[in-house]
Amino acid sequence: MNRFFALAGRIAAVAMVAGSISAFGGGSARFAQSFATTDDVEPVTLTARDIEASNQKAGAAYGALVAMWSAEFKRLGVRFAAPQLVRYRGGVRTPCGVMAPSNASYCWNSNTIYFDDVFVATQAKLAGRALGTDGDMTAIGIIAHEMGHAVAMQLGYRSRRSYENEAVADCLAGAFARQAQKDGSIEDGDIDEAFFGMAAAGDPTPEFTGDRRSDARLARLVARNSHGTREQRVQNFKDGLEGGGAACLEELR
Ligand SMILES: [Zn+2]
Repeated sequence: MNRFFALAGRIAAVAMVAGSISAFGGGSARFAQSFATTDDVEPVTLTARDIEASNQKAGAAYGALVAMWSAEFKRLGVRFAAPQLVRYRGGVRTPCGVMAPSNASYCWNSNTIYFDDVFVATQAKLAGRALGTDGDMTAIGIIAHEMGHAVAMQLGYRSRRSYENEAVADCLAGAFARQAQKDGSIEDGDIDEAFFGMAAAGDPTPEFTGDRRSDARLARLVARNSHGTREQRVQNFKDGLEGGGAACLEELR
């Protein structure tokens, strides 16, 4: 699948999830895989065991995330309403609309993080193969990013610009990694896995056709759904990793 179609798929997916904030990136799985295939690398094969392991990590990370943000909110004198974590495959109907396959998203209306567990396990396996590790932090990073949306929105932060919301969520995922480091639950390779995941989910480069009207339309669609380039996403995660939540949101200072 070329980048334009990956992007088009993602935009369609995002458009369908009206009311939910910024999917992790609907085309990302395909995008990441198209990266792999252009490099003449075999696509990953997922086993039931891989998915089970990834779900276990996601569940453990979820518990640690809820503990961390509950404590942070308590410090601020605010109650954190922990979102639910719901797995799906091949699409799911939510109060924010239909979630497309190969995605993860936070839905404000139901205070729920939805994630396609095959998609998340695939991202972990791609990272693991590229880095020679277990790749688990890539899966955890996705859940931490969606939790970041919940945290930001519950603190009243909501930008009209997609990129700004995404940058905060990536930064808060980094802040979680910082906390995990303090807790001693970060293994060798984890931080590189997180960076890999952020980079793999960077905005695809739009393939402009030279037709002014359709190019302008495409540019607007890209801006409206922007999560940031590979470099921006890695940097935003690093900001949280180095500076904690306060580096991401004034409300957390
Ligand atoms: Zn997001």
